[in-house]
Amino acid sequence: MNTEVSTERKNANPYVVIECPEKIPCDPCVDACPNGAISMPGSIIELPQIDYEKCTGCLVCIPRCPGLAIFVVDDRPEDHSLVYIPYEFLPRPKKGDTAKGLDRDGKERCDVTIIKVIDAKKFDRCAIVGLSVPKELAHEIRAIRITE
Ligand code: SF4
Ligand code: SF4
Repeated sequence: MNTEVSTERKNANPYVVIECPEKIPCDPCVDACPNGAISMPGSIIELPQIDYEKCTGCLVCIPRCPGLAIFVVDDRPEDHSLVYIPYEFLPRPKKGDTAKGLDRDGKERCDVTIIKVIDAKKFDRCAIVGLSVPKELAHEIRAIRITE
């Protein structure tokens, strides 16, 4: 198991980032991953652990988290990063829209461009929205505010 995201790993594929704020009895993320990359050793109250050797960055786990705490980052583009976030609001943004990128405190940090919207019935009202963000903010931007 490799629980660290090495630079080599970041350059190979998108990778999941899990940001559970606290230990709570919750574990849908464990069953959500088709590759068995998320585990919760010990008990359901532990924080999830990621095996980056198994995570392919497939996005599937994002809408399965009731706490909206799962993101996927893609650092492969040279001049920006891609950040995939859960999005529950309606109407959904559209590919090509611009929006304000918000950090974990809801503060506007930059403009972002919507590069993908994946919405499916099986996601239970939570879409996956892909954002193009400045590289230095890939681990800061965690939500958007639609401006158009
Ligand atoms: S992004 Fe895909 S492979 Fe990675 S942890 Fe989530 S479901 Fe598993
Ligand atoms: S489903 Fe979400 S909130 Fe629950 S343990 Fe997994 S990442 Fe944390």
